[in-house]
Amino acid sequence: MRAAIEAARTGRGKVRVAVVTKTQPMRSHSVSAEGGTAAVLYPEEGDSFESHIWDTVKGSDFLADQDAVERYVSLAPLEIIQLEHWGMPWSRRKDGKIAQRYFGGQSYPRACYAEDRVGFYEMSTLYDTCLKYDEIVFYDEWYATKILKNNGRFAGVVAMNLKNGEPAVFSAKAGVLATGGAGRIYSFATFGHSSTPDGYAIAFRAGMPLKDMEFVQFHPTGLVPSGILITEASRGEGGILRNKNGERFMERYAPKAKDLAPRDIVSRAMVTEIREGRGLKTEDGEDYLLLDLTVLEPEIVKKRLTSIREICIRTANIDPLNEPIPVRPVAHYYMGGVDVNIDGATELPGLWAAGEVSCVSINGANRLGSNSTSECLVWGRITGELAARFAMTHQPVEPVKEDVELEERRIFDKLLGPAPRLNPYNVKREIQSIMERHFHVFREQESMEEGLRKLRNLRAEMELGVEDKSRYYNTNLMNVLEIECMIDVCEVIGAAAVHRRESRGAHARVDYPKRDDENWLNHILAYRVVGGIEFAYKQVVLTKYKPVERTY
Ligand SMILES: Cc1cc2nc3c(=O)[nH]c(=O)nc-3n(C[C@H](O)[C@H](O)[C@H](O)COP(=O)(O)OP(=O)(O)OC[C@H]3O[C@@H](n4cnc5c(N)ncnc54)[C@H](O)[C@@H]3O)c2cc1C
Repeated sequence: MRAAIEAARTGRGKVRVAVVTKTQPMRSHSVSAEGGTAAVLYPEEGDSFESHIWDTVKGSDFLADQDAVERYVSLAPLEIIQLEHWGMPWSRRKDGKIAQRYFGGQSYPRACYAEDRVGFYEMSTLYDTCLKYDEIVFYDEWYATKILKNNGRFAGVVAMNLKNGEPAVFSAKAGVLATGGAGRIYSFATFGHSSTPDGYAIAFRAGMPLKDMEFVQFHPTGLVPSGILITEASRGEGGILRNKNGERFMERYAPKAKDLAPRDIVSRAMVTEIREGRGLKTEDGEDYLLLDLTVLEPEIVKKRLTSIREICIRTANIDPLNEPIPVRPVAHYYMGGVDVNIDGATELPGLWAAGEVSCVSINGANRLGSNSTSECLVWGRITGELAARFAMTHQPVEPVKEDVELEERRIFDKLLGPAPRLNPYNVKREIQSIMERHFHVFREQESMEEGLRKLRNLRAEMELGVEDKSRYYNTNLMNVLEIECMIDVCEVIGAAAVHRRESRGAHARVDYPKRDDENWLNHILAYRVVGGIEFAYKQVVLTKYKPVERTY
């Protein structure tokens, strides 16, 4: 939506912007962002661009492109102010200025927030603003299945109207892919069920490389057993992680930053505590540790962690004012994505990508909390403007007819045709359990190879069919299309994880426990080729900072 607004502003009266989304826009995952949006607002009080840059680069375990990080940090404050002007109800300090709080790996309190419902308010603000532009038309509940090309240029997408099952071609001179993270490829995940890796898969199938897909972020505090996120802001406000002996164990793993070390480090510490027998178990045998908010002033929990308290009371029957919260690491974010340059441009002229589906990369091997929503805003603005300029200065291209026909046949003849051989929901559960088992916080060659083999076997026999043959709101058909995207993307994640023989950020290999800058200070690009996946490398852009040991 940020890209749509910028495209409309850039091409006022001269462009038409279609926002194609498989959900209603306010059902996008961004709405559930909780804790904050990072930006340097008050340099006079000690924070600085340099500090935000350094924190982000160090947090990324030196895999971030530093030119992109510099651009991000310098533009993020403008986005906070821009949202403010569009009506965003940021929480305030006593002096009336926008309030900020601490987040993991950030040296200053620089996460701007609105209670712990940041995403909801940001998305409401953006949606309202979109509605002011006649140039922007929403196509809610349209499911995009294919990127169209002609003569090496982007030509539009094929999408299906979920309301009546009608396929259609959105011809376009320029586009921005903003389909969000790979979401629910793990079973214990903070994402809504509609978050699936469609965008990654359709870009990959259209020949674009996926970059750094081995890096999956596990957030330390998923509520057990649902996996609902307990925001990092709860530790930013002073919450403490404890093991079954009541020990504040993070003091041993990160003596300085403690509970506010970056997510990769805290998640590894938690899994280690559990493996070494200092965790607890639910009646159903699920492992967990404790997040203690009883040490906070009750007013802080009530006012700044409103949703967290509500979620705990409603879904777990726990009031965090009186009792610790049961938590464990949960799949939460994908550092990798469609390879784009510093302008968000993909390899396909006319197509940009922004937000979680893209990899710029400011997050490298590990993203810092609160950097993602500001990344979405910054590159939403950049790509929206560039896409509009491109559209205004280029002739239209017609999508290739045969490509459209092939896609319609794939969906309507093949999938809706034969009787289902495998129950797609069982296949989905199988994919999720392979990812949980073989590509989690700690990784190891043999287990990953086994996981990859299982994924490939599953794909080889995957004759998914659709039981529901109707055209109206056929969510069964949409789910099957999503599951096909899941298996494609999981295979890339698995293959890339096997390929990278070092430990860096969120990719922690027990068989290669050290970071190896000599051989692996590179982005890994995965291309789809006949017969599988081919890898290539892209140099990491280092401007000021040489990699050093990463301690907190
Ligand atoms: C629970 C939770 C809390 C978080 N909290 C924070 C936080 O406090 N701070 C922070 O910085 N980050 C946070 N993050 C991360 C951040 O929210 C996300 O990375 C970011 O919001 C992703 O935004 P996006 O626009 O890229 O994608 P999304 O918001 O996921 O939007 C994707 C859109 O693409 C559409 N789409 C997808 N596939 C298709 C298709 N095939 N056809 C048509 N449309 C499609 C969807 O319908 C949706 O509208 C959080 C993430 C989660 C899961």
